[in-house]
Amino acid sequence: MLRLWFATPLWKRVIAALVLGIATGFIWGPEAESIKWIGDAFVRAIRMLVVPLVFLSLVAGVASIGDLRKLGAVGWRAMLLFVVTGQIAVWLGLGLGTLFAPGSGLDTTALNPGPAPEPATTSAVDMVLSIIPDNPVAVMADGQVLPLIVFALLVGIGIVMAKEDGAPLARLFDSGAVVMQKVTGIVMELTPFGVFALMAWVAGTLGLDALSALGQLVLLNYLGCLLIIGLMYTAIVRGLAKLPVTAFFRGIVDAVAVAYSTASSNAALPVTLRCAQRNLGVSRPTSSFVISLGATINMDGTAMYLGLATIFGAQIFGVDLSFADYLLISVLATVGSVGAAGIPGTGLIMMALVFGAVGVPLETIAFVAGVDRIMDMMRTATNVTGDSAVTVAVATMTGEIDRAEMISADDI
Ligand code: ASP
Repeated sequence: MLRLWFATPLWKRVIAALVLGIATGFIWGPEAESIKWIGDAFVRAIRMLVVPLVFLSLVAGVASIGDLRKLGAVGWRAMLLFVVTGQIAVWLGLGLGTLFAPGSGLDTTALNPGPAPEPATTSAVDMVLSIIPDNPVAVMADGQVLPLIVFALLVGIGIVMAKEDGAPLARLFDSGAVVMQKVTGIVMELTPFGVFALMAWVAGTLGLDALSALGQLVLLNYLGCLLIIGLMYTAIVRGLAKLPVTAFFRGIVDAVAVAYSTASSNAALPVTLRCAQRNLGVSRPTSSFVISLGATINMDGTAMYLGLATIFGAQIFGVDLSFADYLLISVLATVGSVGAAGIPGTGLIMMALVFGAVGVPLETIAFVAGVDRIMDMMRTATNVTGDSAVTVAVATMTGEIDRAEMISADDI
């Protein structure tokens, strides 16, 4: 029994839990609230991950940019494109969420999620002051994300500046980041139970409306990703890389297929590299550098989704978001997509980072977790397409692409 459980991929167990949870909720009605504590346990475990995961992976990420300085010309162009595309993606998610309002019209008063976490900021001056950590240990203990990020960035920069003296610490953080990915894997094993309990509670209390809201969220996630690929990446491939769009997309088909089916940029990494080198003619050093960096820090699909999901959570729980909150979300969603490892479901964990800062109840995470896999697949396909688009653009700008080697679209 136990063997069968672990032999079944997690996403299948989560979908089964979603279906069973909804059915249980419909049959049981509002009484299903009695098992909500199982979902609360899951949410607490996710919250546990945020501080160490963000701190260790951001320091490790910045420390690895030590190489970026060596690669100079390639590095800054890639970083600029990563940041600009990430920002466009988050604002697209925020725009889609605001425009189509997938979570409004749902009367969630019955859910009574308890007091929402206090928003981290009130005025512009407070916001500036609150991102300067006065005591890094207290910041970690209180789970204040923005000052934690500032501290992590500074430690990362310090490691790069210390050169050889910083190398042991860089390795330590690297190893810490890998360990936290494993711990994340353990917590993810709780997902089926959390999803079952929370879906039973939500379906029992809200009925069919909840399903319709989730359906709209999934559709908007696909729409957002398709817009990013169809408009933004097409513009990059045409405008910056000067490549025929069809040849580009045919060249990366294998990578996108692996990304979509595994929901992991990391799993797709070897295939993405091969596609860039063999099908698109990008030099080995440039493709290895930009694609490996991109697989970890460039996640436009995830950034878009974090924007969309925050608006969704705010709508279902009736949290009012100001423009300052939108700005905060745009920064945190970009940081969250940078901090998210390229493995299945990390977008879900990063929600805790954004939600906490703007006062959206973390119950939203469990509410959407059941349909996360279907959305994760599309996010990951988008993330991998973005890495490839930035790679061909940077390679073209720095003369690192061999068009003669590029297999013509008909040969692929
Ligand atoms: N699974 C995604 C990736 O590997 C990250 C996410 O959960 O959005 O790219």
